[in-house]
Amino acid sequence: MKHKTTEAVFKAYIMSLLMDRALPEAVKENAETEWHEIMQDEELREIITAVIGIREALMPLSEGDLSTQIEGHGYTISLLKKLQASLKHIVYQSNAISEGSFAQSMDFMGELSDAFNKMVYKLDDAFSTSERHRLKAEESERRHRLLADNATDVIWTMNMAGQFTYISPSVVRMRGYTPEEVMTHTPEQTLCPGSLEYMVEGLRVARVHIESGSRMPVFRGQLEQPCKDGSTVWTEATISGLYDEDGKFIELLGISRDITAQKKLEAEIIKISTTDKLTQIYNRLKMESLLESAFNDAYTQGTCFQVVIFDIDKFKRVNDRYGHPTGDIVLVELTQYVAQVIRAHDNVAFGRWGGEEFMLVIKGMQLSEASVLLEKLRAGIEAYDYSISEKVTCSFGIAQLSVGMSLTDLILRADQAMYQAKSSGRNCVIIDNEAGACLSMERIVRI
Ligand code: GH3
Ligand code: MG
Ligand code: MG
Repeated sequence: MKHKTTEAVFKAYIMSLLMDRALPEAVKENAETEWHEIMQDEELREIITAVIGIREALMPLSEGDLSTQIEGHGYTISLLKKLQASLKHIVYQSNAISEGSFAQSMDFMGELSDAFNKMVYKLDDAFSTSERHRLKAEESERRHRLLADNATDVIWTMNMAGQFTYISPSVVRMRGYTPEEVMTHTPEQTLCPGSLEYMVEGLRVARVHIESGSRMPVFRGQLEQPCKDGSTVWTEATISGLYDEDGKFIELLGISRDITAQKKLEAEIIKISTTDKLTQIYNRLKMESLLESAFNDAYTQGTCFQVVIFDIDKFKRVNDRYGHPTGDIVLVELTQYVAQVIRAHDNVAFGRWGGEEFMLVIKGMQLSEASVLLEKLRAGIEAYDYSISEKVTCSFGIAQLSVGMSLTDLILRADQAMYQAKSSGRNCVIIDNEAGACLSMERIVRI
């Protein structure tokens, strides 16, 4: 360096490059001669270029800008280039981690590498745990949906207002409605009237349990539900409460099974077990059960109760003349006629008591009214046009329950009255003498 002042300008310039934000242009402009001298000196020029190079490399680095190319050469610049490359690598690894690649590790940044590797390890662990849970939950959900979607039974959830919150697709097979349609249905559209009342009561009981904090009992019941085509389906519903992990009630969970076929079978079995095979009217078993309930009703409700036994007159002769099969036909014709007359009376039950012996159980009808009905039947049976070319008649005995009389007594009295009718010339109605005053009717005779 030639002059003292040149050295001072150089020092001032370098100091300003290191200390100030702005480039020291003023230094150059205020000392043009000295600056010219500095520029003539190759060594000084190189020092200035190196310091400017470091300044320019550090500026973007300090702001996190890694894309600016670092110019220059030498050890210091190469360190900055290395730092930029390392930072670029960290950016690349961080991006890879964010995409779930936890195999990233770092060994070129000392303390930063340790902290980075620890963070990646922890992230990996936390992610795998939550991911495992998520996958497990997804799998479980998928399996349950699969089960619900493919089940023959209808699986559903419902809030306490009676609104479905989920219903499995099998509802289409069962009721013709799609799950979407059912979800909009009111309780009245979901259940037939009788079953709705039953369900409302079930919900009331459930609500009492929920409000008192106890678990609701499992409800099992047979419910009749309307179908889209206007028919109905009988279902057996099993309903329980769905609770969260804290035991708080969420909603109702139900499984409904189509039991229409079972119901039909039950009805068929009941019909077979209560119907007489030949005449298709009630059999003796059914009449015995009706007698029991009428007897109980009469005592608990104080209603009138009469038993009628009637027997075909001289039926042996019919069989003898026309054969047993024709006798059967006559039996059927006679019962059909009586059944048709009886149909108008809800309070009269008609059944076959023995071979050609029949019974009527009459409830809640005055004896006078019952006697009129019997006289009508007697006359009608006599007038009926049978398959055989002769008249068929019956002898009737009627007894009315009075206080202290047992059911056996009552039946016996009706039977005795019937035998009395036989001995009184047949084709007549006899009223048991305990049954009150004799009625003034041509063919009604009192014992
Ligand atoms: P009565 O007026 O005294 O009753 O004379 P009856 O000939 O009808 O005498 P009874 O009631 O004792 O006889 C019943 C007859 O009815 C005997 C039996 O052969 C006949 N019988 C009973 N059950 C059936 C049946 O299912 N089919 C036919 N064809 N005949 C029957
Ligand atoms: Mg007879
Ligand atoms: Mg008989």
